[in-house]
Order: sequence, then structure tokens, then C-alpha cells
Amino acid sequence: MEKKYISIVLDDGPLPFMCEIIDLFKEYDFKAGFAIMGDRVTDDTEYMLKYAVDNGFQLVGHSHTHRKLETLTDDEIIKEMTEPVTDIKNRIGYDMKNIARLPCHCPDERVLDVCRKLGLVLIGYGMHCGADWEPSATPERVIAQTLETVCDGAFACMHVREHTYIALKTILPELKNRGYELVTPDEFFKIKGITNPPVGVHIHNLNNI
Ligand SMILES: [Zn+2]
Repeated sequence: MEKKYISIVLDDGPLPFMCEIIDLFKEYDFKAGFAIMGDRVTDDTEYMLKYAVDNGFQLVGHSHTHRKLETLTDDEIIKEMTEPVTDIKNRIGYDMKNIARLPCHCPDERVLDVCRKLGLVLIGYGMHCGADWEPSATPERVIAQTLETVCDGAFACMHVREHTYIALKTILPELKNRGYELVTPDEFFKIKGITNPPVGVHIHNLNNI
């Protein structure tokens, strides 16, 4: 069977179930990325980031406070997107570099222009995962839509939530059966031969760059 690749990046952590999700990925020899919110990183939660990094998972930015970036000034956007990078480097010595997922997938052209100036590589989504950020989401919905829309080359957007963790217990073995490998964003770019990903645009599927 020909190998297919996707990269799931789970947003909004560190939150409960992050370590359980990591353990689940490990069972299938899969990796993932976590898009981290700066203001959730505290003395009490930084162990989750260390656990991710120690197990070969990747951390990327997801702003400091998850405010709607289009309502902020350019300087505030820069602060939102760069502060967590410095903070996490100081706390655990890990460099999230210039890779991020914008909060709320902001499509605003001025925001994207600021991101371009910052040299930010923006991870989007090339498949759908049952709107798992909604409190009303169910594991069944997450499973159904993920398995229906999964395709080689896609970034997937999931969230660190209990219903997502439950859904992944079904999704991961099924993806393995279908010949998928789940990798970190950095591994994904490398496997797909992309050495200089475009900046300031949402990247949804690496086969369409
Ligand atoms: Zn988010």
C-alpha cells in the first residue's frame, strides 16, 4: 500500500487530555503538533509541553490570548504572535520558531500581511474534523467527518478536548489501516520536499503548494 501522510495539529493547549492524546498517538507510532496558547502556559501546565517535546511532538504558536486578531493593531498582533515564542523558549528551552496556527483561522488581509512581515508559516486545514471546538461536538461527529474528508497532504485542525480524545481512539487505528502516517508539521514539510514553505498564507494541503 502506498504511504499517505497527514499532520494533525491540535489547538488551544495546554489543556487536560493533552498528555493522554500524546500517549494515544504513541501507541500507533504517530506524531502530531500542538498549537499552544501563551497565556495557558503556567508553572502548573508547562509539564504538558515538556511531555510533548520529550516524546518528539512539535509545538507551534496559537497567539497569547486567542483574541480576534483582526480587532487588534499591528503592534498588538505582533505581540500576540511573538510573546509565546519567547516565553516558551525561556521556560523549557524549546523554540516554536516561525510556525503558527492563527486563532479562529483569521482570513483578514491586514493580519496576514503582519504575519508575512513576521515570516510566519501558517498552518491551516485541508480536511474537516467535525468542528470539534464546539462544546456540543460529539466523538461520533468528529470520527465521521475526519474519516470522510481525510486525504494525503492535508493538515488537520483538531482541539485538545475530551470528545476529540475519545474520537481519536477510533480515528488513529483506522488511519493506520488505510496506510496513513501521521507526522509533525516539520516532518511533513520535509517528507513532501518543501524546504521553504510560503509565509503569511494559510497552508491547507502540502500537495497543492
Ligand atoms: Zn484556537
